[in-house]
Amino acid sequence: IRVLGIETSCDETAASVVALDAAGTPEILSNVVLSQIADHAVFGGVVPEIAARAHVEALDGIVEAALADSGADLAEIDAIAATAGPGLVGGLIVGLMTAKAIAAAAEKPLMAINHLEGHALTARLTDGIAFPYLLLLVSGGHTQIVAVRGVGDYQRWATTIDDALGEAFDKTAKMLGLAYPGGPNVEQTALHGDASRFSFPRPMKGAAQPDFSFSGLKTAVRQAATAIAPLSDQDVADICASFQAAVADALADRVARALDRFKAEFPDKADPALVVAGGVAANRTLKAALQAQCAAAGFAFVSPPLKLCTDNAAMIAWAGIERLRAGLADNEDAFSFVPRSRWPLDSVSTPVIGSGR
Ligand code: ATP
Ligand code: MG
Ligand code: FE
Repeated sequence: IRVLGIETSCDETAASVVALDAAGTPEILSNVVLSQIADHAVFGGVVPEIAARAHVEALDGIVEAALADSGADLAEIDAIAATAGPGLVGGLIVGLMTAKAIAAAAEKPLMAINHLEGHALTARLTDGIAFPYLLLLVSGGHTQIVAVRGVGDYQRWATTIDDALGEAFDKTAKMLGLAYPGGPNVEQTALHGDASRFSFPRPMKGAAQPDFSFSGLKTAVRQAATAIAPLSDQDVADICASFQAAVADALADRVARALDRFKAEFPDKADPALVVAGGVAANRTLKAALQAQCAAAGFAFVSPPLKLCTDNAAMIAWAGIERLRAGLADNEDAFSFVPRSRWPLDSVSTPVIGSGR
């Protein structure tokens, strides 16, 4: 089977063709991603209206490029899968409507895919890992720990009660005068910093409640920066390094709790794994902290290639393939599906996509 995927939920316009051969081996035939970062950087964040217009302008060409790169023409595609939520509704409408038009014109099945399901299933495309496993999703819009039990069977164990982790990186960067998107710049700047200079709070560390929180840390950073302003380059580097150390420590604590719960709930799982996804998963300090936590708990640490960890359409096409294979695709429902800005992953845990309305 070959599925064409379309992703437009945030600031990437993306299309991809993924194939599954008779032996059950997946192959990414094409993966085209156009980032709008430059369009939004001057505003210091994603502007929904600008994003939606950029998707309108780019999507046709991106889909054509994905088909051309794949070597398959539309007639050889078995289904169209498009992100239908959660995300910025303007972009979702552009992607899903385009997918509906292609599917209707080419008389192909259509699937309305949950963006988070795409992130959740990527490790099966890249690493072929078996259910159940634990997913840590850390991006600009999401910070969640999810027990991935099967296709369409997800249980959210933890979420952030305030800022997403990527958002915390971006806001901290902005505060320190570093460019958007802040995550990579904070990491780079921290390389020259002293992580022990500031002892920032480790939000939620030790709490019985499994959730994350990052707004208190952000406030502590602001207070520290204000107290020593004007900031020298070394001050900025020290703050970045100390912030990153606090995040790593807090994250490792939250994840350790989830690993314990996983062991308790799936005692028979012989080869447990933690999968990380989302743009923040690029951060080497955080990765090292998570890796150590996994090693201590006897979990494999799975980190798919960054290109497939950040927003892309290969993960959407793949989610479509997983759904087709599991017999969960429902064409008619997808054609009448209305894009959803909010769409928790737990609520796609239904046998037929779209029936959660
Ligand atoms: P969504 O949340 O809807 O999946 P998004 O576009 O916000 O979409 P991604 O593209 O996966 O998410 O990730 C972008 C986020 O990752 C930004 O907040 C960015 O600052 C952060 N990020 C990227 N690289 C790093 C890094 N090296 N360290 C920390 N954070 C990073
Ligand atoms: Mg993005
Ligand atoms: Fe995403």
